[in-house]
Amino acid sequence: MAETPLDLSLDAPELTARLVDFPSVSGDEKALADAIEEALRALPHLTVDRHGNNVVARTHLGRAERVVLAGHIDTVPIADNVPSRLDGNGVLWGCGTSDMKSGVAVQLRIAATVPAPNRDLTFVFYDNEEVAAHLNGLGHVADAHPDWLAGDFAVLLEPSDAQVEGGCQGTLRVLLRTAGERAHSARSWMGSNAIHSAAPILARLASYEPRRPVIDGLEYHEGLNAVAIEGGVAGNVIPDACTVTVNFRYAPDRTEQEALAHVREVFADCDIAEFVVDDHSGAALPGLSHPAAAAFMAAVGGTARPKFGWTDVSRFSALGVPAVNYGPGDALFAHKRDEHVAVERITHCEERLRAWLTA
Ligand SMILES: [Zn+2]
Repeated sequence: MAETPLDLSLDAPELTARLVDFPSVSGDEKALADAIEEALRALPHLTVDRHGNNVVARTHLGRAERVVLAGHIDTVPIADNVPSRLDGNGVLWGCGTSDMKSGVAVQLRIAATVPAPNRDLTFVFYDNEEVAAHLNGLGHVADAHPDWLAGDFAVLLEPSDAQVEGGCQGTLRVLLRTAGERAHSARSWMGSNAIHSAAPILARLASYEPRRPVIDGLEYHEGLNAVAIEGGVAGNVIPDACTVTVNFRYAPDRTEQEALAHVREVFADCDIAEFVVDDHSGAALPGLSHPAAAAFMAAVGGTARPKFGWTDVSRFSALGVPAVNYGPGDALFAHKRDEHVAVERITHCEERLRAWLTA
């Protein structure tokens, strides 16, 4: 455990190693949040605010645009992979190297070394990303101090292998319950079979043709699928209840209300006794048509790709701030015992972001 505050004069790869050696498993981020706050408070060009173990630092230069650089400071549980280890091939190993202390190191380096950026900057460091959504520090800041997160564009430095991942798809889970009437299966005509009543639901799902809309140049791919089915009473009973659990992954050109309305419409002709919304997290627009995003794309290069899974960019989108993922880590190695990051990727991301913010 480091006792001195973080030294922001270290280069980003070295800083990543220090951050990895400073354990901060979800729920245990206070010491690291303290160190980050202390290091940022020493920078005269930033104002620093704190809510719980979430630290927000901002410039106030009166620039025409404000961009947000955000990252979570927690990690999944350590798996014999701390302290960090730099091998002879320029690869740094350890818990959080990819997800996402390398990204946090880049944020801290930009905060420390770009005192007069061409756009006002907001740096967000938050806790509890790797655990249940209601604990998520970014969500807590969004609820308590939405003004701290205001901006024209946000970059989350989550592992994306130094590629831009725009927006994210929404996810809706509904329970479709059918009803029937119990009877002895020897006299089945006396009852009504709820499992059979689910057949039209399954037929709709099997024949459903998902859209592949192109938004800001990115092709998304929706999906409507049964992910569970439950029903039956006993081997000799006609069942009176059946539940089909359906998951809809939808592109960011639909609002939450529109997504829900679409699913209701798909099953409108089915005989559904109860339609229950079990879980719903909205999609996020990639926002790549915004001028700040276009300049960002030009500076970082490459081609943006869509994000199919749900991520915290959606929390920014809900606040009206378009957001992308762009970070040095590789998501394929996140949460793994052999988690690692290429030092070259860390340096590359830092250079690209600096170019964007100082051009
Ligand atoms: Zn992460």
